[in-house]
Amino acid sequence: MLYSMSRGSGMFGGVEAGGTKFVCAVADERGAILAEARYPTLAPQETLAQVRDFFISCGASFRALGVACFGPLILDKRSAKYGFIGSTPKVGWSNVDMLGMLSREFTCPIGFDTDVNAAALAEHRWGAGLGTENIVYLTVGTGIGGGILVQSEPLHGLMHPEVGHIRPRRHPSDGSFAGICPFHGDCLEGLASGPAIVARSGRELQQLDPSHLQWELQADYLGQLCAQLVLTVSPQRIIMGGGVMSRELLFPLVRARTLHWLGGYIDRSEIESHIDGYVVPPGLGARAGVMGALRLAMDAASL
Ligand code: ZN
Repeated sequence: MLYSMSRGSGMFGGVEAGGTKFVCAVADERGAILAEARYPTLAPQETLAQVRDFFISCGASFRALGVACFGPLILDKRSAKYGFIGSTPKVGWSNVDMLGMLSREFTCPIGFDTDVNAAALAEHRWGAGLGTENIVYLTVGTGIGGGILVQSEPLHGLMHPEVGHIRPRRHPSDGSFAGICPFHGDCLEGLASGPAIVARSGRELQQLDPSHLQWELQADYLGQLCAQLVLTVSPQRIIMGGGVMSRELLFPLVRARTLHWLGGYIDRSEIESHIDGYVVPPGLGARAGVMGALRLAMDAASL
């Protein structure tokens, strides 16, 4: 859907590039959205042309654009492939020059990062991460991904964290399911993403009775992930979004399994007494992604 907007200068544009849809938005410096459009994720050329046409149709003079994209991404600015999508199981999207396409059309600064790092930034400024410096934003949906902020900045390095592909300990009642990750089989994404749930149990989690074993497996695997993150990056909060997390019933189960796997080792009241405020849903809800893209634009403008 495309909303009209008045022409203006100094606007920010954001692209939330997801595996099933692209969300494009134009906002002012306060983050108020003035125009928005959604497009299904088709072939790269077709989808990126729609993105380009949307921003051109808005007629605004952009201070900056931000692209929050599914990974893996090439984020090393010294690389000739900076701004490219890496090897992805999404057909046709490996080795696509996401940033280059927009750079050829728009001369303003363009911020570029993973969808989950961007969502972490948005939650940090406007949502459930307020008042913290070190947080993890997890999404559990068609895949499992995690963005990490360290001292309020996204963690990069060799590329970016890929916490969805760590390998959890198998639940004893889940011995026969091979997992669906094309790279690892039974990594976390292979065992606990939305498509993994459907492959194992025949339905989405939301359609299964809470007494179904799938709920126990899901909580256990996600609890292992949260516990691993507490032990490795010591976040002050873990924010969990994505379609699989949309049932609030899952949160208390994941928190309980997080405590189980930590085994009482982390002697902090945030964990032991107040985990309800430690493993939390996104404050921005489903808007975290597009607001993250806009936050990338704002950061790019200030560089
Ligand atoms: Zn994997």
